[in-house]
This record gives sequence, structure tokens and C-alpha cells, in this order.
Amino acid sequence: MKQSTLLLPTLREVPAEAEIISHKLMVRAGLLRQLVSGVYTYLPLGYRVLRNVQRIVREEMDRAGAQEISMPAIQPAELWKETGRWEAYGPELMRLKDRHDRDFVLGPTHEEVVTSLVRDNLNSYKKLPINLYQIQTKYRDEVRPRFGVIRSREFVMKDAYSFDTSREGLDASYDSMYGAYSRIFTRAGLNFRPVEADAGAIGGKGTHEFMALSEIGEDTIAYCTSCDYAANLEKAEVVYKQEDRVASAGELEKVPTPDVKTIEQLMNHFNFEARSFIKALVFKADDRFVIGLVRGDHELNDVKLKNIVDANVLEMASEAELAQLGLPLGFIGPFNLPDEIEVYADSLVQDMIDVIAGANEVDMHYRNVVPGRDFNVKAYADLRNVVEGDECPRCGGHIAFARGIEVGHVFKLGTRYSEKMGAKFLDVNGKEQLMVMGCYGIGVSRTAAACVEQNNDENGIIWPWEMAPFHVHVVPVNVKNEEQKQLAEDIYSKLCEAGYDVLLDDRAERAGVKFKDADLIGLPIRITVGAKAGEGIVECKLRRSGEGQDIHMDELLAHVA
Ligand code: ATP
Ligand code: MG
Ligand code: MG
Ligand code: MG
Repeated sequence: MKQSTLLLPTLREVPAEAEIISHKLMVRAGLLRQLVSGVYTYLPLGYRVLRNVQRIVREEMDRAGAQEISMPAIQPAELWKETGRWEAYGPELMRLKDRHDRDFVLGPTHEEVVTSLVRDNLNSYKKLPINLYQIQTKYRDEVRPRFGVIRSREFVMKDAYSFDTSREGLDASYDSMYGAYSRIFTRAGLNFRPVEADAGAIGGKGTHEFMALSEIGEDTIAYCTSCDYAANLEKAEVVYKQEDRVASAGELEKVPTPDVKTIEQLMNHFNFEARSFIKALVFKADDRFVIGLVRGDHELNDVKLKNIVDANVLEMASEAELAQLGLPLGFIGPFNLPDEIEVYADSLVQDMIDVIAGANEVDMHYRNVVPGRDFNVKAYADLRNVVEGDECPRCGGHIAFARGIEVGHVFKLGTRYSEKMGAKFLDVNGKEQLMVMGCYGIGVSRTAAACVEQNNDENGIIWPWEMAPFHVHVVPVNVKNEEQKQLAEDIYSKLCEAGYDVLLDDRAERAGVKFKDADLIGLPIRITVGAKAGEGIVECKLRRSGEGQDIHMDELLAHVA
């Protein structure tokens, strides 16, 4: 590619809206331009990087036996009503109507679509397991889009869905995705760590997040310096499991889980029965309180977190309304909250008034739970109060903290969606059974940004080889010099022929400008064609180490390789 004709608008100035280094660099190096808050255009360089992530993802997903499909971004509301997420998903869901006044959503994720696809087209154990994936544009109306494409409203995700005949099958599918993710993020040049996402359930293997380590990460990770234990602290949750129960739980009153989905129903419910309500999350956003509700779902403990994430935000209420509701400020969890929402819960956990806990029975709950008396809250307390240097819950080693950017997430869904949507298969005995599902996401655009966040210096980006928009930057110092111009073009063609992606800076700019741009763009190898061009000698410089070496044109190919 010749730079003179390339749409590559580099900037010396830092864009005002950019808070973090990757966002600044991606705009300055001419990769991205914002159209409107949280919505970006990828310019040629940026798009090449995005395609690199996609290539790596495709290769590893295919290697793991997944099959690529492409599902629509536009999805009918009916599907979302089947799973209850039309109501539960909240304002992050982009909703729209067609000319016939029918409701649609712009897909933030594709469980509904893929489950309906498999339900309608696959019904025998002989066709299972299957893993379907796509690389697609997703839409989430994030409360606060920020950090460029790290948290945008339109973004590219790779999402995969596995369908198995059994829990054991799901475990194998999950492990295979876990392996693929580790290879993907390694190839993408990231310093990352897989962490347990529902940290409250120590030892729980139902969901992991892949975290790119970075100071600007929105999640705090507690990890062990001796073993591979790592957990997302912000996800630390009181997971009351049956095995955590102590004797006095027998005295608790079991109550049916009320079917409330709106604040109105909630209020009605409270007028009758002030305390018999399921888990409430109450947290503060500016001067409003957000009341969330966790609907009972006991098929699997490890899907609880997902329920919470998906189903929490009901509506905003003022403090007075809250008091009027007589809401128990008891069960409050620092769940996966929108980032600017301060976790009001933290300070309240100490003086819990009332806690409602699941009764490990569909649609039943205990009320007036006292943590410690009725349930063993050690695991929770350990995690909530954990400080650096604490003992690792697994091996007794030392706990350290780090910040992370969630670039990937793997999740055992179990039968949650197949049950709601009737995705069944006939087993060996001709008996109908529910499919056992897993889902696996990668933020493709976020991975590109996380890579920049981790790979840069004061002069610009430092691309890892597989992520680089071009491998080699050929820079003739002065294109008006015929010798330099010719040699640069020869090198350019030679490298292109050898299969490298090469950018030739054929612009009639001053050398200083070209070098500044080259450092900013950050291609792994720069070949400078200057004064020694007559002897066929050029300088070959590595962006990462800054090491340069004079090389004869004839040895160049061997050197680049
Ligand atoms: P977050 O906690 O950052 O909001 P999430 O848990 O809501 O992410 P998932 O539903 O797990 O996201 O989606 C799978 C992946 O998609 C995430 O691991 C992340 O890499 C990416 N992703 C999610 N939301 C965004 C966004 N707004 N912009 C860019 N990438 C995103
Ligand atoms: Mg998350
Ligand atoms: Mg999110
Ligand atoms: Mg996630």
C-alpha cells in the first residue's frame, strides 16, 4: 500500500474526548473516528487491525471445531419475550419498530436467535454436540460509552454457542473454548489472565472472564502469586448454596418467589407482604436509586450470576420512594453494575437488615435470612474483605490485586435457554431431552484496543506482529532523490512478493514528519532508505526495541524473516 493515497489522517494533538492511551493513539494514528458517542468508523489501518483479530479468532475457533454462521443483527421481540429478556434486559437493549409497528431489537447478544435456530433445525443426539459461532456487530446502549472501542454502543463481538447432550459434554465444550481463548489472546499479543467470574463461589467453574491486565481496566482481579487462582473481585457475590447452610436454616420460612417484573408489580407486592420478596439489589446512581430484582431460577447455581446481570435493573427510584417501598436493603450484591454506578451496597453489607435467599427449589425463597446464622458466609467475607497479601483461598499463597479489561467471557448456560425456548433432542432411546448449552464471547474491537493499551510507548503504538496493520514500513527519507525512491520501490515490491504486508511512505514530506508518523503508527519493522541508497544499504529498525541495523538490500529478505 502506498501511503500517499491511503486515508491515514494522523494527528499531533490529543483528541479532547479521549481519556486513555489506547483511545488517544487509535485516533491519533488514524485508526478510528467517532461518528456519535460510542459509535465509530474504522479507517483503513484500524479496519486492518480489526480483521487481524477476526482472522486469529476464526483460525482458533475453526481449529476447535466450531462452525461459523452469520445471524441477523435485527431480531424480533417475540424471541426475547420467550426468554423473558424483553422485559429483563433493561435500557441497554436497543429497541425499534418496523412500519407495521412490530417490535424489534438490535442484538446485544444472540442466545435467542441461535437457540431458535437449533431448536427448529436439529433434533437428534446424532448431530450433537455442535458449536456455532459468528463475528458480528452488536448493539448495547451503554449508560456511559467510553474509552473508545473498549466500551462502545456498536461493537464487534465473536459469539459462540455450544449445544451438548449432557453436562459432561458441556464441560468438554467449555474446556475446548477455554483453550481456544487462551491461544487467541496469546496470539493477539495480550498480557491476560483467565479469572473466575463468580468469585463468591470459590471453586466454581461455571464461568470465566479473560482479562487483559491494565491499569485502566474496569474490573479488579484478586489473583494468587503462587497458584493459578484468580477471581473478579467486583463479581464477588453471596452465593448461598445448599452446602453453605447451617442448622438454623430449618427455622426459616419458605415463601414463594413473587412474580414481579415491574416496579408497579413490585409496589403492589410490597403493599401486601413487605418482606417476602426475592433478592433486591439497591444501588445508587447519582441521586437516584436503582432497584434491581433477581428472579428465582434454581436450575443451576452457576447461572445465577447471569440472571442477575441480565435481570437486575428494574427502574430508578428516589430515596423517598425507596423508603416508601420498605425495601429490604439486605441482599445487595456488587454485581456487574454499569461502571459509573457507585456500589452503594458495599457500606450496607455490614448492617444487613434482611436477607432473602434462594431455597434451592424452583420459585421458592427463604425470608429473614441472617448470614452467618443460617448460611455460612465465609467464602463471601473472605472475598469482600480481601486485601493484598491475604491468603489464597485455594493454596494458602499470597493474594495480589490487578486491574483488568474483560476481553472474553465463557459461560456454562446449562438448560436455561433450551428450557425456556424448548430446544430439545431425541436421545439414543428416542426420549426427548433438553440441550445443554454454553456461550462464549470475545470483544473483537475491544481486543484491538486492549492490545494498543498494552503495547505502546511515548511515541506511539507498538504492534505485535499478528495484530499489525502492516508488517513493514518502508520509508524513503527523500522521495525527490531518484536513487532512494527507486530502491524503496524495489524493496516494497520484493517484500510484497514475499508475502508481507508493506506500507510504503512515498509522500513528499520532511523526514522528521515521516519518522514521527512511522513511530505513531507503530509497524513492527521500519526500513529507512536514506543516504546509503546508492550502495544498496538501508537501515532496518525494530519498533519495539528501537534497535537499528544497516543491511544490504540483498540480505533484507533473510533479515526480515
Ligand atoms: P462488560 O462487563 O465490559 O460490560 P459484558 O460482561 O457486558 O462486558 P459480555 O456480555 O460478556 O460483556 O460480552 C462478551 C464480550 O463482549 C465481553 O467480554 C467484551 O469483551 C465485549 N463487550 C461487551 N460489551 C462491550 C462494549 N460495550 N464495547 C465493546 N466490547 C464489549
Ligand atoms: Mg462483564
Ligand atoms: Mg456489559
Ligand atoms: Mg461478560
